[in-house]
Amino acid sequence: TPKQPSNLSLLLQSLLEEALQLPEQGKVADYIPALAAVDPEQTAIAVATLDGQLHTAGDAQQPFSIQSVSKIFGLVLAMNRLGDALWQRVHMEPSGQPFNSIVQLEWEHGIPRNPFINAGAILIADTLVSHYSASKAALLTFIRKLAGTEQIWANTSVYHSEKEHGNRNAALAYLMKSFDNIEAEVPQVLDHYFYQCSVEMSCQQLARSLLFLANRGEDPINGQSVCSRRDAHRVNAILSTSGMYDQSGEFAFTVGLPAKSGVGGGIAAIVPNYGVIAAWSPALNTFGNSCRAMFLVTRLAERLGLSVY
Ligand code: GLN
Repeated sequence: TPKQPSNLSLLLQSLLEEALQLPEQGKVADYIPALAAVDPEQTAIAVATLDGQLHTAGDAQQPFSIQSVSKIFGLVLAMNRLGDALWQRVHMEPSGQPFNSIVQLEWEHGIPRNPFINAGAILIADTLVSHYSASKAALLTFIRKLAGTEQIWANTSVYHSEKEHGNRNAALAYLMKSFDNIEAEVPQVLDHYFYQCSVEMSCQQLARSLLFLANRGEDPINGQSVCSRRDAHRVNAILSTSGMYDQSGEFAFTVGLPAKSGVGGGIAAIVPNYGVIAAWSPALNTFGNSCRAMFLVTRLAERLGLSVY
């Protein structure tokens, strides 16, 4: 069990102030105008614990583009719907390549290395499009239920510009389609994927929504089962090995928590049997992970001794 600090909110506040004073580093995602326009100074951290406490510092109520963090929600929905058949179509190995890399996909006959690189998440999007009559609505409903609020939406300007600038993702999808690993029509699959990437959440909402992964698949606040215990363990395992792209090894080494990042600058880290840390700041390092969010999660994990290893 992690050390419970006497005042977690104060600790978060002092870590936030340290993060704000770091020398300027990193670069806001600029592949679409809607993300390039985000104020890079915004910074937040939230910790939700299994007993229902919520501690925050900074812009923790400010919604941001969750981008690849959404891959967790898509994966859990697909695991629930498809069962073990899913693992015939996507592997569970770290890629060691950038998140949007295409090379391994040809070597491995259209089977993505894991569900958290873009190819894998597009494959997951295909399963959702094929198994739900309205997959985008199903995903949004699922996220809202987990966050315990209806106040979550996709950002339409991000959604449209993702589509306009989505050639690499389209290439990944068509290559998988050529290997017969995509069932639905590619434009429909990409439409779901881009919608999912454009969902906006605050750190506070994100931390609350992922509590089930720290609690063996059960939402500790309302007692509902979100996924099986086995699948919660499996999602955490893949998060540990692949959630931070090709910085996953270093993250396991320095932080030691299952976690997922997105190019919107968000990071969600699962602390089994304790809670969830969500941190956000838009400027990214070369791996596509937020510099300040990395700093915040790393420092907090050190201070509380959170590593699962
Ligand atoms: N929308 C982004 C993309 O598809 C999401 C990637 C990310 O957050 N790493 O490239």
